[in-house]
This record gives sequence, structure tokens and C-alpha cells, in this order.
Amino acid sequence: MITLALSKGRIFEETMPLLAAAGIEVTEDPEKSRKLILATTRPDVRVVLVRASDVPTYVQYGGADLGVTGSDVLLEHGNQGLYQPLDLRIAACRLSVAVRADYDYASAVKQGSRLRVATKYVGLARDFFASKGVHVDLIKLYGSMELAPLTGLADAIVDLVSTGNTLRANHLVEVERIMDISARLVVNQAALKLKREPIRRIIDAFASAIPGS
Ligand code: AMP
Repeated sequence: MITLALSKGRIFEETMPLLAAAGIEVTEDPEKSRKLILATTRPDVRVVLVRASDVPTYVQYGGADLGVTGSDVLLEHGNQGLYQPLDLRIAACRLSVAVRADYDYASAVKQGSRLRVATKYVGLARDFFASKGVHVDLIKLYGSMELAPLTGLADAIVDLVSTGNTLRANHLVEVERIMDISARLVVNQAALKLKREPIRRIIDAFASAIPGS
């Protein structure tokens, strides 16, 4: 059995064409069922649904042989023991700093103010501001980051931006792009040795179907 860990939503949807290239179709719709293990048209392949931030943990400890998750998640998690053969170029977005439209970020940084920054990405944000020599107090949040500058909880947020619609809807502006983000295929190293042939076939099929390749 080969187990692939995916998260619901964009990653799931954008991984389907890659699976199709490997001759694999998921036979259940995750939006219509509460099942966490989904069968596929291949009896030896199944999909497990986990939170995006749990994908590295499942693959690292062998709860799944393969997984797809964002480079943001992998960088924040640290990719111990994970083989990362492919940038799938799906679920593309960027990790950015955003502030209220009326907040003078450039002056605050220039004056050496201590910024309060709310984010889910505490590790990446710490590294980024340290590399710029900007002092920050980091506030860990798990969601709705956009609310933090609006309520006075923080001066700035570090969050994923795709179209920019969420920022605009909340009167926030993107002031710095920290890095580009896309989804990666990760593989458990022991599984790669023990199930070499079927896993290789999946990696090769995914590689041939990467958008823009
Ligand atoms: P947007 O309004 O298109 O800029 O999307 C921003 C919102 O979607 C933020 O709440 C982000 O956390 C989330 N988001 C955008 N792209 C991704 C992605 N590739 N993976 C996960 N969340 C994302």
C-alpha cells in the first residue's frame, strides 16, 4: 500500500491532475464526505487527509509514504528526514509582510522601532527580521492574521498572499515580499527504499505533469 498525505482545498484540488498523470484517481469527494482515508482507482494507493502543517509529520514518521505541502510549511517545520524531490509549482503564493494602509512601515523600520508582528510563521518571520536587523516581538496566531493590525494587537503581519484580495478587503497593504512559496512533494526516506518502484513511478509521473514543465 502507498499512502499519500494531502490537505483539503487548494493542495488537494491542484494535486488531482498530477495524480491523474500517474493513472490514479481519487474515488471520493473530500468536500462531500467526512472520511479521512480516501480510496483511489488503484487498490494499492490511498489518500489520507491531514492539516497542511501536519503533512511533514505524517511523512517523517511513516504515517504516509508521500505528501504534498507548501514550502512555507516545510521551512517552518524543518525538513528532517524528508526527501524532497519535486517543486510541484502548484498552490503558488508568497510570504509577505503587511500593515494597515495608514501605518508608516518604512519610517518605523528606519527609526529602529520595535515592531509587533503577528504570524503563524514565527520561525520564518524571526529569521527574516533578524537578517534585516529589525527588532520584533512576535505574536503567534493560528488564523485570521489580518485582524491583528486592525485591532491593535500588532503593527504588522507575516502571512501568505495570493491575489491580495484578503489584504485589500481588510485595508492592509503588502510592504515586503519575504519569499515565493509553492507546494512540494515530500517522501519518507525508508519508504523510498522499501517501495522504490511504485514510488519512483509516482514521482516520475508527477514530474512530467508539473504545470509549465
Ligand atoms: P488572497 O486573498 O488570494 O491573497 O489569499 C490570501 C489568503 O489565503 C490568506 O488568508 C492566506 O493565508 C491564504 N492563502 C493564500 N495562498 C495560499 C496557499 N498557497 N496555501 C495556503 N493558504 C493560502
